[in-house]
Amino acid sequence: MKVAIVGAGPAGAHLAALLSQNGCEVLLFDAREKPWEKPCGGGVTTKALREFEFLQNGDSEKQLVSTVRVIGASGREVSVQPKSDFAIYSRAELDRLMRERAVKAGAEFVCARVARIAREAGKWELRMQDGREFVCDFLVGADGATSKLRPKLGIEFKPRDFIYGLGWHIKTENPADWDASRVDIKYLTSSAGYIWAFPRADHISYGIAVKYQERTPAQLKAELLDFIEAQLPHIAREIKASTHHSTAHATFYGAMIPSLVVESWDVLKVSDAAQHWALIGDAAGFVDPITGEGIYYAIKSAELLAQAILTRTKDYEGLWRAEFGADLRRAAEMLDRFYYGKFLGQPFTERLIQFARHHRGVRDTLNDLIAGDQDYLSLKRRLFRNALKI
Ligand SMILES: Cc1cc2nc3c(=O)[nH]c(=O)nc-3n(C[C@H](O)[C@H](O)[C@H](O)COP(=O)(O)OP(=O)(O)OC[C@H]3O[C@@H](n4cnc5c(N)ncnc54)[C@H](O)[C@@H]3O)c2cc1C
Repeated sequence: MKVAIVGAGPAGAHLAALLSQNGCEVLLFDAREKPWEKPCGGGVTTKALREFEFLQNGDSEKQLVSTVRVIGASGREVSVQPKSDFAIYSRAELDRLMRERAVKAGAEFVCARVARIAREAGKWELRMQDGREFVCDFLVGADGATSKLRPKLGIEFKPRDFIYGLGWHIKTENPADWDASRVDIKYLTSSAGYIWAFPRADHISYGIAVKYQERTPAQLKAELLDFIEAQLPHIAREIKASTHHSTAHATFYGAMIPSLVVESWDVLKVSDAAQHWALIGDAAGFVDPITGEGIYYAIKSAELLAQAILTRTKDYEGLWRAEFGADLRRAAEMLDRFYYGKFLGQPFTERLIQFARHHRGVRDTLNDLIAGDQDYLSLKRRLFRNALKI
C-alpha cells in the first residue's frame, strides 16, 4: 500500500511514522522544508504526555509548567498546580521531533505544495505546485485548519466552525521578566475564548482567540495588548509605537482554529474506505471547541487511522467517534454555557474561579480540565456535585 500524506504537522508526521514502521510505503508532503514557529500556544496536556511516550522522552526542548494561573474577566484569579506534567513546546521543536521520527521510520519526505488531486482508475494522482506528479493508493489530508484537500473531498466547514486567534511571540532580554514555569489563562467579558501567556525556552507565546467574527482583529489586538502591558510594559509600548505587525522583540501571528458546532459534528464524515481517503488532525476539525486544544487530537486521530489502515477491519469513523468524537461534540454543546452562561447570577467562568479558590473539589476539577483528564461528558455532573457540597 502506497500512502500519500499531505501535511507534516503532528497529525501527518505521526501517521507517517506508524505506517512506515508497519511496512507501508509513505510519501509525506509539506509545503515547508523546515518545521517553523507555527501560530500555536504549544500547550501539551498531561493526557497527551502520558499517552504518547515519545513526547515525554523525545529529545526536544519543552517547558514544564508548575503553575497555571486562571484569571476571570473581572480580574479574580486562582492558581492551580498541575498534578502531573503539563508542557509547553515551541512548535518548531515539536514538529521537528515528529518529522524526524517519521523519516527515521522510513517515510519519504517531499518538500512540495500539493496543488491538485484526482482519482483515476482506482489510484490517487497528486500534482505539486512545482509541476511534479505522484501516484498513490491511499490519500490522507493532514493539511491543517484551512485544509485545501477538505473541500476537494466534499467537506465544507462554515465560518461558525472556526475560532480566530492572533498574538505575538515575544522575546525579552531579561529572563527575570517572566516566571518560565507559569502559564496564564484569562477569560474575556462576553466572548467565547481567552487570552494566554505560554512561556517557551526562549520566548513567550502571547495570544487571544475567540469564535470567528465575534470581534475584529483590531479589538483582539487591543485587548491582548492591555494584558501584555500589565506584564511587559516596555514590549507593549514597542508594539503600540510600531507601524508594523511585528517588532524587534515581538513576532505577530494570526490563524484559524477549527471549533465545530454541534450540527457539524453530527454530519461529520472524514473518510471513505471505498475511495481510499481520510482526513486527520485539524483538517478533520478535531480540536476541542472550548479550549482550542488540537495537538492531542491530531496525534490520536493519526493513531486511529493507522489502526484502520493496517488492520483493514477497523472502521476509522467508528474509532474516532468512540474515542473522542462524542466528547468534542459535548464540548460544542456546552460552549455557550461555558463562556456566556451564568451560574448563581455570575458568569460561569467567574464562578468556576471563585469556587476553585475556596473548594478543593472544584480546584481538582479545574486542574483535571486543564490536564485533559476531565471529559466534558461528565463535567456537569462533577461540578454539580461540588456545587451542592458548597
Ligand atoms: C493561535 C493558536 C494557538 C493554539 N494553541 C494550541 C495549544 O496551546 N495546544 C494545542 O494542543 N493546540 C493548539 N492549537 C491547535 C494546534 O496548533 C493544531 O491543532 C495542531 O497544529 C494540528 O496539527 P495538524 O498536524 O493537524 O496540522 P498543522 O500542524 O497545521 O500541520 C499542517 C501542515 O500541512 C502543511 N500543508 C498545508 N497545506 C499543504 C499543501 N497543500 N501541501 C503540502 N503541505 C501543506 C503545512 O505546512 C503544515 O505543516 C493552536 C492553534 C492556533 C492557531
